[in-house]
Amino acid sequence: MEKNSRSPYEIAIAQFDKAAAHLDLKAGIREMLRHCKRELIVHFPVKMDDGSVRIFTGYRVHHSTVRGPSKGGIRFHPDVTLDEVRALAMWMTWKCAVVGIPFGGAKGGVVCDPKQMSENELENLTRRYATEIAILMSPEGDIPAPDVNTNPRIMAWIMDTYSMHRGYSTPAVVTGKPVEIGGSLGRSEATGRGVMFTTREALKVKGIPLDGATVAVQGFGNVGAVAAYLLQDKGCKIVAVSDSQGGIYNPKGLDARDVMRFKAENRTVVGYPGTDRLTNEELLELECDVLVPCALENVITAQNAPRIKARVIAEGANGPTTPEADEILYDRGIFVVPDVLANAGGVTVSYFEWVQGLQFFFWSEREINLQLREIMVRSFNDVLRISEERKVDMRVAAYILAIRRVAEATMIRGIYP
Ligand code: GLU
Repeated sequence: MEKNSRSPYEIAIAQFDKAAAHLDLKAGIREMLRHCKRELIVHFPVKMDDGSVRIFTGYRVHHSTVRGPSKGGIRFHPDVTLDEVRALAMWMTWKCAVVGIPFGGAKGGVVCDPKQMSENELENLTRRYATEIAILMSPEGDIPAPDVNTNPRIMAWIMDTYSMHRGYSTPAVVTGKPVEIGGSLGRSEATGRGVMFTTREALKVKGIPLDGATVAVQGFGNVGAVAAYLLQDKGCKIVAVSDSQGGIYNPKGLDARDVMRFKAENRTVVGYPGTDRLTNEELLELECDVLVPCALENVITAQNAPRIKARVIAEGANGPTTPEADEILYDRGIFVVPDVLANAGGVTVSYFEWVQGLQFFFWSEREINLQLREIMVRSFNDVLRISEERKVDMRVAAYILAIRRVAEATMIRGIYP
């Protein structure tokens, strides 16, 4: 089947089925894991700056709460659909299980274009959406975090809205908050830092020296920009980066931090001095050692996978590679660090933030980064071992590990009543 004809949830199910075939799961458990536990759709009004009222649609989906409260980000994007949120919620379940943190999977989204909204409109939208999903959200039950187009400021509004309704401050209801109100040190860099750790491990497996390795990063946001400068700090050469406006290329290498400064001023990386322009599609096919997709789903497909030249792909984004592309990349010997492993650093430090919030006791940034490294490296090697033993790609291996953990937890808890 052609990749674009499949929705993200169909892709998530196909990935699940492929890995589940390697496990001796009871039919009922298998069917249970293929479904999301609960799905909330909300339509809510927002007062706009011109005095008009607009109705927005939002979602919050819990895929699993077997291993703990459900955890997962909220995205604001015009293309958000229930189907996409379901896939993202399911991926969160596997991600938390792969790195062994005690959470299930959730995701939320609002269909909107935050780039066309004022700060005030965005705050109204966020607070009303938070109120609408408050029936599902709590420190014990479901803990949101940032995702595409959401950030610490938006998390602060969610925390404040929830706390106003409760009558007392409840920092642990959301992660990815500003440090000033109970956020964790290291959280803003955590996803990119995890991408850096897993890329480093993958390069070791492939026998490619980290020092001088060439890297192309698609999506220069919360994840991609941090991955770029941390890999640069380790000696990698960042040859290309992009955002929704397009990409920039310099075979001699870019200074990722300086590109960040440029982007902060110009709202895009395009036009950065001393670079050639390239499209997002061209960036994916660039001559480089490491490709780091950090934007949206379905960008590496059966169409472009045969032309990809990178030897390692580290998925900073969720769902960037289709199942058909996975097969092509595996046959071509390209080492893919799958999203549920590569970008799990974010939710791992979210877990640290949640624990700190519940205890009102805060750790140093050094402690956080050390614990993050330990979890990422251990998880990478757990997955690598399964991939070598079973002769499967790293995604199937990660799913085998995750599905086994969730299935075991389900069996131990038992089916109620
Ligand atoms: N949105 C991020 C992800 O996809 C972070 C989720 C979290 O920290 O809960 O992993």
